[in-house]
Amino acid sequence: MIFDIVLEGGTIITMDAQSQILENHCIGIKEGIIHAIFPEGSSSYETKQKIDTHNCLIIPGLINMHSHLPMTYFRGLADDLPLNIWLQKYIWPLEAKLIKPQFVYDATLHSASEMIKNGISTTNDMYFCMNSIADACSQAGLRVFISEALIDNEPAKDNPDNSIGRKIAELKEEYKNNPLIDFTLAPHSIYACSSETLKTCAEIAKNNNILIHTHLAETREEVENCLKMHKKRPVEYLQELGLLDVRSIFAHGIWIDEREMELLAEKKLGSIAICTESNLKLSSGFGPVKKYQEKGINLCLGTDGVASNNNLDLLTELSVTAKLHKALNNDPSMLPAKEAFAFVTINAAKALGREKELGSLEKGKIADIAVVTLQELENSPVYNPYSLLVYAITSHSMRDMIIQGKIVMHNRQLCNVDEQRILDKAKDYKEMILQAIEK
Ligand SMILES: [Zn+2]
Repeated sequence: MIFDIVLEGGTIITMDAQSQILENHCIGIKEGIIHAIFPEGSSSYETKQKIDTHNCLIIPGLINMHSHLPMTYFRGLADDLPLNIWLQKYIWPLEAKLIKPQFVYDATLHSASEMIKNGISTTNDMYFCMNSIADACSQAGLRVFISEALIDNEPAKDNPDNSIGRKIAELKEEYKNNPLIDFTLAPHSIYACSSETLKTCAEIAKNNNILIHTHLAETREEVENCLKMHKKRPVEYLQELGLLDVRSIFAHGIWIDEREMELLAEKKLGSIAICTESNLKLSSGFGPVKKYQEKGINLCLGTDGVASNNNLDLLTELSVTAKLHKALNNDPSMLPAKEAFAFVTINAAKALGREKELGSLEKGKIADIAVVTLQELENSPVYNPYSLLVYAITSHSMRDMIIQGKIVMHNRQLCNVDEQRILDKAKDYKEMILQAIEK
């Protein structure tokens, strides 16, 4: 066999079931798939392209489980505000004025490129204008699970006609030959959707095997309102509507009590995407991570959008998450680095139901790979690579990125986009947004 690419030498953090770490190994890639992992010098091979990965860690591409890619141009626009004011006074009115396919495409090309520079190979996104997001991510080379946020406060009259289900089926057909693109169903939240809409989503998801992506229990107020309106806590309400019977990703999951955790644990179909930095910045609170782990609930991590985070550095997010929960539980042994690293790799793949293809470096899996250079002062010495990944490195150590077997970043240079053009566009959009606010 002639490989397309061989990563030659280096330490592979496989994240496989045995948590193997393979030193001085090579990875042979062909047609987007990892075809071989072998000790350096053990066999001769032919390859079209070679990447020297000596003195590097080779890790699975990181998976971001909750994002809003097109919010790029709102970064830093309105900080230091409570969630409801931030949403109602700034974000929603601006979105109503500005969100058009070209805006979404440009903003997504920016954030997809930024994610790749942060070592992210896959993101699970929720926004509007799904075609624009698909096209921009394809251009950058980022794998994406796309959904359109369904917002519907009125009792649904004409909505549950499965139009959204049809739309997703059409989009899946349109992009069926693009391995980077997939679609999910996203009722925004229990407070932004009617119970009819939520119920319909559960039915569509079940009948068509589509993943659900929603916000859940992000604020105390959300729980109080749910109790007032439905006489139930949020997870109980979702159970009643059938949303625990389908594979779901619940972003935030902060204000969830023990009974609700048991409901989630029982069905084993829902995963929590923790969004620590967004939650810290908006003072929304902290999820009961320790209890979630005790109940066996699958945990992963999301950056949320840059309007609330304000960055897409998933490894820093992980570092903050691990340290925060150690402190909250007064237990430094909680969430050790190896366990934490699974949040952004194999646990995330499980949450997506794609653990046979993504989330670890093994023969037969898709070649989504990040190469981390150790040639930086802050990355030396290495006693424990997980410790380095979670507590020490910054995204600047992400040297190369391969997604679906294609090199999308090499030596920190993005291969598919013009970074300067993206920076210039951001300046133009800033002017446009400032004018929109004044009007
Ligand atoms: Zn969100």
